[in-house]
Amino acid sequence: MKDFALTFDGFDPAEEGLREALTSTGNGYLCSRGTAEWEDADGVHYPGTYVHGIYNRETTILGGLPVLNEDLVNLPNWLVLKLRIEGEDAIRLADVELLSYRHELDIHQATVIRDLRFRDHAGRETALRSRRFVSMADVHHAGIEWTLTPQNWSGRVELISAIDGRVTNKGVARYKPLEGRHLDPVSPRTFGPEVIALKVQTRQSNLYVSHAARTRVFEGDEPVAVERGLYQMEDYIHQVLAFDVHQGTPVRVEKMVAFINSRDPATSDTLERAGTSALRYSDFSDALQRHVSASDELWRDCDMVVPGDDRVQLLLRLHIGHLMQVCSHHTVDLDAGVPARGLNGEAYRGHVFWDELYVYPFLTFRMPEVTRGLLMYRYRRLGAAQAAAHDAGLRGAMFPWQSGSDGKEETQRIHLNPLSGRWEPDLSHNQRHVSAAIFYNIWHYFQATNDLAFLADYGAEMMLEIARFWASIAVFNAERGRYEIHGVMGPDEFHEKYPDSTEDGLRNNAYTNVMVAWLCRLAHDVLALLPKSRAEALCERLDLTDEELTGWEDMSRRMYVPFHDDGIISQFEGYEDLEELDWDAYRAKYGNIQRLDRILRAEGDDPNRYKLAKQADTVMLFFLFAEDELAEIFERLDYAYCSDTARRNIAYYDRRTSHGSTLSFVTHAGVLAAYDPRSSWERFLVALESDLRDIQGGTTQEGIHMGVMCGTLDLVQRSYPRIHIRDGVLYFDPRLPRRLDGLRFAMTFRGTPLMVAFEGGCLRLSVHPEGVSRPVRVGIGSDVRDLCPGESTSFVLKNNGLAEPLVT
Ligand code: BGC
Repeated sequence: MKDFALTFDGFDPAEEGLREALTSTGNGYLCSRGTAEWEDADGVHYPGTYVHGIYNRETTILGGLPVLNEDLVNLPNWLVLKLRIEGEDAIRLADVELLSYRHELDIHQATVIRDLRFRDHAGRETALRSRRFVSMADVHHAGIEWTLTPQNWSGRVELISAIDGRVTNKGVARYKPLEGRHLDPVSPRTFGPEVIALKVQTRQSNLYVSHAARTRVFEGDEPVAVERGLYQMEDYIHQVLAFDVHQGTPVRVEKMVAFINSRDPATSDTLERAGTSALRYSDFSDALQRHVSASDELWRDCDMVVPGDDRVQLLLRLHIGHLMQVCSHHTVDLDAGVPARGLNGEAYRGHVFWDELYVYPFLTFRMPEVTRGLLMYRYRRLGAAQAAAHDAGLRGAMFPWQSGSDGKEETQRIHLNPLSGRWEPDLSHNQRHVSAAIFYNIWHYFQATNDLAFLADYGAEMMLEIARFWASIAVFNAERGRYEIHGVMGPDEFHEKYPDSTEDGLRNNAYTNVMVAWLCRLAHDVLALLPKSRAEALCERLDLTDEELTGWEDMSRRMYVPFHDDGIISQFEGYEDLEELDWDAYRAKYGNIQRLDRILRAEGDDPNRYKLAKQADTVMLFFLFAEDELAEIFERLDYAYCSDTARRNIAYYDRRTSHGSTLSFVTHAGVLAAYDPRSSWERFLVALESDLRDIQGGTTQEGIHMGVMCGTLDLVQRSYPRIHIRDGVLYFDPRLPRRLDGLRFAMTFRGTPLMVAFEGGCLRLSVHPEGVSRPVRVGIGSDVRDLCPGESTSFVLKNNGLAEPLVT
């Protein structure tokens, strides 16, 4: 299918790392980079396999000091298939003449395909087609198929099919000085003549990981009798399959693989389970069919149809496909969060940040049970967040900026500036706003699902503990008659402290303070939503007093928000006094100035001195809240919120933002949707293309950007149709860019699957007649309608629902 194929013609070593990340395959449990099976890790290729939750901590002695890091572990390489012709060295791309080469991700079938023809040094021409998938149907399985056709020769070949446990984490050049060994060998093993298996153990977290592979050869459907040899070491095992091939006759090789680790339920010995599972697994075509049909089912819920723009269509689907690789129904019970860089690279060490804020809106409206599972990752780490608050002399739950296995703060305290080559202090753990994001995520999950059981059993407890944390970090400034928060950073990581100050953090980050005002009110009200006995039990367990609740109510009215003299919201107190940067001069000198922080520091300067931002900070407010909601928050705080507040603030910060995180393009596209459709669309396209074009200079090969990919989906789903939920009603107020005219997608609102279609100047909403759906309420402005299963309704849209009038 054209709209579902990401295709690269020709082999380009410089691009291979990026392509490997873009063509990864995964099933929400395990993900592997799109590396060619016959290549080892060298400067060009990097086979990497990652499973949710397999983290390991290692210490590096750096400049005499111990530096502890936790990484998502690169697991044994199960891809290995190598071809030797007539006993010669195994074929590598670098050693042959490529006659044709195509590398493709079939996004719909979640299959990575390589089609090549090559001529070796002896003039033999061979065609090879490789296909592989990680099964969406059978969570612990994957399959590789090679079709090999000697084109001008016949002879004897040997296939090496291996599981290689000698891998380390070395996918990110910046981290090279840091310890990358995370695995200790346990044992290789065979299960009958066809299955090889390998068991390893993570060095510190003591998790067992076993892979097993069954390799067979076929001519048509007939098995080929092969001669098998075996070689094994403690951390590596391979089988050699030798057989004759004949000119023009294709042979198929199938490598069917099983993965089990000691976090998997229903497991005693991981090696035994992987081995027997590989023995029993079906053949490739059967397994592929099951995988495709399971993927197809997901696509029915997740696809977005954009008839007016092929490129946008393809990239949205690429992003949906990548989301499914990391978050699927298989993720629900894994005790997993969403790693900021997905599961196909090692940047940010597989840690979970606030980026979930950009992932959940799309996910929740399609796979709410997956969001619920991911939120449980946070709930299970509530104890760690409470301990962190306690250790900081605070109360409640202080979630970490970077989270890994057990919910401790994983943010490194130094990081390498690649421009200067220096290790510099990293204060980003002061981004306490992550706790506000978690609160926001819980509340919006509840709004979209009405899952009261989750709220009662888990969500409310986290919300209350988060509010308690904010109440304990806030100080009351009697002079101002307002609550203040000091020593924190907003999402803009370029400002870590005041210039020349010895203290970390800033005073009164506006984004944080407004979020706190909002959440304090909700935390105060959330108890009323719970069954009385549950609310009472929770208050008792948390030792929550009326006085505390009244305190939160007061904070919701009296948080301090700094403003400039001209009424612009100050990103933080004192921002107004910073120097303006000469943006044109920096652009002229450096071209791409997205990472102004590195540039300034390499110059010996300090980004803290300037009015600049890495990414949306104050602007986040206009992204996360609907206009009337934000107006209400400000009015309650007794600050003016005028009809031009959003427009003026967005314009002010837009001029001072370098978009050093591509998340910023998503946010700005979202907030500009209503004010400046053209600029919004431009930003949308930058975000949409950012991973494919690798606009951050080589970062995508270290892992795709999950928040940005999902952010682009959310823009199409939420920001342009301008969806928001209020009082249980799903409201639309579409301002679609012209390219999105005809947009269609499915979504689930409060348990009811809806089809949403913008066509012929109307918004058509329908509920499928089958299944266990309940009536839902949908509306545009004051026109609110009930929609029952089997019904459809159409709203005639002002200006055809388009942001700009149609030019005819
Ligand atoms: C951004 C953060 C983000 C992190 C992980 C950073 O570059 O500034 O906002 O959470 O990347 O994606």
